[in-house]
Amino acid sequence: MMKTNLLTLAFSTATILALTMCNAPSEEGPSEAAGINGETIADHIKILASDEFEGRKPFTTGETKTIEYIKSEFEKMGIKPGNGDSYYQKVPLVSINATVETNMTITSGSGTKELAFGSDYVALTRRVQEDISVNDSEIVFAGFGIVAPEYDWNDYEGLDVAGKTVVVLVNDPGFGTGDNTFFKGNSMTYYGRWTYKYEEAARQGAEGILIIHETIPAGYPWEVVQNGWSGSKLYLKSEDNNASRCAVEGWISTNAAAQLFADAGLPGYYFNNEARKPDFTAVSLNQTMSVSLSNTLETSESNNVIGLYEGSERSDEYIIYSGHWDHLGIGAPVEGDSIWNGAVDNATGIAAIFEIAREFTRLEEKPKRSVLFMAVTAEEQGLLGSAHYAENPIYPVTKTVANINMDAMRAIGKMKDVTVIGHGQSELDDYAAEAAATQGRYILPDTDPGKGYFFRSDHFNFAKVGIPALYAKGGYEHIENGVEWTKEQQADYTANRYHKAADEYNESWDMSGIVQDAELFFQIGLKIANEDRFPQWKEGSEFKAKRDADMAQAN
Ligand SMILES: [Zn+2]
Repeated sequence: MMKTNLLTLAFSTATILALTMCNAPSEEGPSEAAGINGETIADHIKILASDEFEGRKPFTTGETKTIEYIKSEFEKMGIKPGNGDSYYQKVPLVSINATVETNMTITSGSGTKELAFGSDYVALTRRVQEDISVNDSEIVFAGFGIVAPEYDWNDYEGLDVAGKTVVVLVNDPGFGTGDNTFFKGNSMTYYGRWTYKYEEAARQGAEGILIIHETIPAGYPWEVVQNGWSGSKLYLKSEDNNASRCAVEGWISTNAAAQLFADAGLPGYYFNNEARKPDFTAVSLNQTMSVSLSNTLETSESNNVIGLYEGSERSDEYIIYSGHWDHLGIGAPVEGDSIWNGAVDNATGIAAIFEIAREFTRLEEKPKRSVLFMAVTAEEQGLLGSAHYAENPIYPVTKTVANINMDAMRAIGKMKDVTVIGHGQSELDDYAAEAAATQGRYILPDTDPGKGYFFRSDHFNFAKVGIPALYAKGGYEHIENGVEWTKEQQADYTANRYHKAADEYNESWDMSGIVQDAELFFQIGLKIANEDRFPQWKEGSEFKAKRDADMAQAN
C-alpha cells in the first residue's frame, strides 16, 4: 500500500510541474482570459471529431484516444480524478446476439399455435446465458404494466407473476385522454417507456414480458420494432449477469395480441379501454407461452471519464455535469466518408464541459459543494455509461444535488429561448429560468413532449435514481433570424447530419449559442454549488416519490 502511495505522490508532483509549465501565459491563446470561450470549445470539437478519433466508438482505438484526451484535459485544468486515483470508471458491457431456437408457441385449451418471429413477435433476453427457454409460462394481461404511486395506480396489485409472462399495453393510460392531469395526457411519462415496462416486470418477478405494439401510442410502426430487435445488442453486464431481468423480453404485434384476447374470450379493444380504468385488475388469459433462445455472447469493458473539483465547505455534496463522449464509429462509406465523427453529437457537449470546468477552476472562491464532470460512454447504444454510473454510483445518490446534461449542442448562434426538455419535472426549471433571465432569454417547455425526449439522453439515468436533472438548450428562436429559420436549421441537421457521417466540424460554425448555453449551465451549477438546499422534484413528477423516500431514509 505504502509503495503505491509513494508512487502516486511522485506522479502527482510530476503532474503539477507539467501543469505549471502548460499554464505559462505564452503557451495559451485567448482562452487564458476568464469566461467561457467559443474558440477553445471549437478547438476541442475539432480534435474530438477529427478522423483520427475514428468516430469515438466504445472498445476501439477511438475510445482509447478519446478517454485519454478527456483525462489529460482534466489534468491540465487541475480537475482531480473522480474515481479514487483514477479518472476512469469501468463499464462492463455484454453484447448478446439472440436467435430463436424454437419459435414462440401459445397453448390454450383448444391446442397450440406457433407465432412467426418478426411478423408476430420479437423476443430477446438480457440474461448473460447461452440458452434461455421459457416453458408453458402462464400469460397474464397486466394492463399497462405500471406501478405509479403519484397516480395511485398499480397494475400489479395483488398479482403474483412469478414464473408467468405478462402482456402489457404500450405507452401509459393518459395517452389519448386529453387530460393533462392523468399521466400527463399525451406527454409521455416515464411509465410509458418500453424500458420502464421491462424493468417493472423484472421487479415484480415475472419470467417473461411482451408489449403489445400499437402504432399510434407507440409513435412508430411495427417495422421499427422488427428491425430494432434483430442482430446483436449491447447491454450493461451486472454482477449477477443480469439474472434479475426477465428471462424473455419482447413485443407482439397488434394482430397476435388480438388473437390472444380472442382465444381468451375477450375482445381486444374492449380490453384496451378497460385497462385505463382505475379499478382495472390484471387477468389471466388462460394460455401459456413457450419459446427458446440461443445467445452468442461477447463481453467487453468501456469507460466513463470522471473528474472532480472539490468544494470548500460541503465537499461531500455533489453537482454532476454530464455528456456522452461516444459516437457511432466507422461504418459503410457515404460519398467516400466512412467515419461518423459526431461533432454535434456529442463533441459539443464534452467541449462545453471542459470550458465549464475551467470556469470553476478560475473562480476566486471555490464553490462550496463539489462539482463532478462526467464524460460517459455508450450513450448511443442505450445510455449505458450513465446507467452504469447511476447503478454503481461513486458518490452517494442522496448527496448528489443535481445533474446538468449536455447533448448535441447546436452551433447556429445565440438563441432567445432556453428549451427545457421535460419541463415541469423539477425545480431546476426555476434555476434555469432565473439564469435565462440574466441573459435576456425565456424558458420554453419542450415543443414535442409526446416523443419522450426527457427519457432519451444520459440525464434520465440520474433522474431514475432520484437526482433532479436538467436537460435544456437554446433551439427554438434565433436571436436575429427568428423561429422559422431556426426550424429550417434543425430540420436540415436532422435530415442531413444527425447520426450520419456528415456530422462534422465546419469552420462556418457560429459558436456563440454554445457559449451562451455553457454560460447558463455554469451559472446554474454555481448557484446550486453555493446553496444549502437540495432542488426538489415537482409535484406530479415520476421521480419524486423515490427521491423523497431515499432522502428521508438518508437523514
Ligand atoms: Zn447524443
